[in-house]
Amino acid sequence: MKRSFLSIGECMVEMASIADRNYRLGFAGDTFNTAWYMRRLLGGAWDVAYFTAVGDDAISTQMTDFIRNSGIRTVFVRPLPGCTVGLYMIQLDQGERSFSYWRSNSAARKLANDPSLLETALTSASLAYFSGITLAILQPEGRTELLNAISAARRKGVTVAFDPNLRPRLWDTPEMMRQAVMSAAAVSDIILPSHEDEAHFFGDAMPQATASRYAEAGASLVVVKNGPGEIVSLSGGGIGRHDPVRVDSVVDTTAAGDSFNAGFLAGYLDKEDLAPAIKAGADLAAKVISKHGALVD
Ligand code: ADP
Repeated sequence: MKRSFLSIGECMVEMASIADRNYRLGFAGDTFNTAWYMRRLLGGAWDVAYFTAVGDDAISTQMTDFIRNSGIRTVFVRPLPGCTVGLYMIQLDQGERSFSYWRSNSAARKLANDPSLLETALTSASLAYFSGITLAILQPEGRTELLNAISAARRKGVTVAFDPNLRPRLWDTPEMMRQAVMSAAAVSDIILPSHEDEAHFFGDAMPQATASRYAEAGASLVVVKNGPGEIVSLSGGGIGRHDPVRVDSVVDTTAAGDSFNAGFLAGYLDKEDLAPAIKAGADLAAKVISKHGALVD
């Protein structure tokens, strides 16, 4: 039987400035980026599915077509009448990139409003993946619904992976963000944080402190990314330290963490061998940050 990777979150329309007030249309979003790379890395023995909500307008249809044409199953991409998808714009001003977002009314904010679809999707997965951004866009009831569904699926044997992806601007207060992230950690097996964010909002002095905090929350495996720094893992086998891949000219760090997660998870699913899987994550992230854009061929 085919195994299935399910990623849960929000994909957005991306308008990236190219020149002279011209923009290139694309589709991206943290959990979607990871699904996109997973589809490329996992062989035919795996299904990759995305769980989200979109609208019923033309751009929502284009997004769903893009997801499907990437080889990702869209059976859990639910169109909501009268809604539309979120959008962000990347503007270039003398080489400096700035981002603007229009996502406060996006359909994806209602992704957890159909508990039975959530249950069907989660219990059909071998590995389910979500992030702190997935949590941030939901209302408190939706967040509870999602975490309950994940917890129930986990009790039935689904492995759960989580990237805290801390984005304080999406939360009312940093404390709400911290509480929600630690609740998500308590229902996750594999946690993939980035130390710089964690140090800032949780006060972790070193990557090892980030790893220990998430291991204490219940994760059996934590892999702490740290930009160009050493990657620290913590599992039943203890602490591991892994060299990052050196990148001489970083072009665009968009999706560094998302692609790392895909490289790592795909490698780990294959052999459950930590060091080569972390190397695969770092290799893919190094390739992605050497080029422009979130989705790099
Ligand atoms: P995020 O994008 O989630 O903030 P990080 O910045 O920690 O995540 O980066 C994720 C991974 O991407 C790192 O573990 C590393 O493998 C790679 N990476 C990021 N920045 C660099 C860099 N400057 N040089 C080499 N690798 C990098």
